[in-house]
Amino acid sequence: MIHIKTRDEIELMRESALIVSKTLGMLASEIKPGITTLHLDKLAETFIRDHGALPGFLGLYNFPNTLCMSPNAQIVHGIPNNTPLKDGDIISVDCGSLKNGFYGDHAYTFEVGEVDEATKKLLRITRESVYVGIKEFRAGNRVGDVGYAIQQFTEKEGYGVVRELVGHGLGRVMHEDPEMPNYGSRGKGKQFKEGMVVAIEPMINMGTHRIKQLRDGWTILTADGKPSAHFEHDVAIVNGKPELLSTFEYIYQALGIDSDEEKPFRQIPLVL
Ligand code: MG
Ligand code: MG
Repeated sequence: MIHIKTRDEIELMRESALIVSKTLGMLASEIKPGITTLHLDKLAETFIRDHGALPGFLGLYNFPNTLCMSPNAQIVHGIPNNTPLKDGDIISVDCGSLKNGFYGDHAYTFEVGEVDEATKKLLRITRESVYVGIKEFRAGNRVGDVGYAIQQFTEKEGYGVVRELVGHGLGRVMHEDPEMPNYGSRGKGKQFKEGMVVAIEPMINMGTHRIKQLRDGWTILTADGKPSAHFEHDVAIVNGKPELLSTFEYIYQALGIDSDEEKPFRQIPLVL
């Protein structure tokens, strides 16, 4: 069942999403060669609690940490540990928050030190594919329109679109209906309506779309050992159009990146 949100609820969800955005922005300044993902996890937990929220993932389905930290060939659900990040790694950071009874959930794949050109391109295309998908998230369109757009955009680069893990509705529960696959057919699936809120989160592999899971029961990685990227935004339908609730602007401020990629998806100006 799809839970439609009121305008007031959407504003509460924006608050939850922005706590995650700020957390990712804080982490952007900390991610460098030599730092461990467990250290970053502790920083994030403290930061979220200091902002009056709860870590959204900690204890969810018994996940042991605040952040999912998935380096290189890991796609999602990596568990923070004491292995230092090294120059040339990429690290996908997925973060959740819970405030006022609503979840925020978004993700960014960071470069650690100097990353090779092919991997940089994977990150750029995956990030762009989030907006390609968001553009299709409007009243009257269907789940398959978003998936189709993301799949076309990324497969034409020769990349693999992960099938087993998908985006999702978001609200008082972390994973609500509808499921939002990053592949699909135009005009197929549930129809989007005013007040829907979803997390759109392409998981894109440089090579095969096939996956493996580690024996820890959590970590998902590429079957061929090639890198994978993951970017995620929270989006509502307001006035029939996509309205971004999360932002990468805190990350871009920290990294000195100038971007207007989010502008087309903001009816309400972002106050940082
Ligand atoms: Mg997430
Ligand atoms: Mg999600």
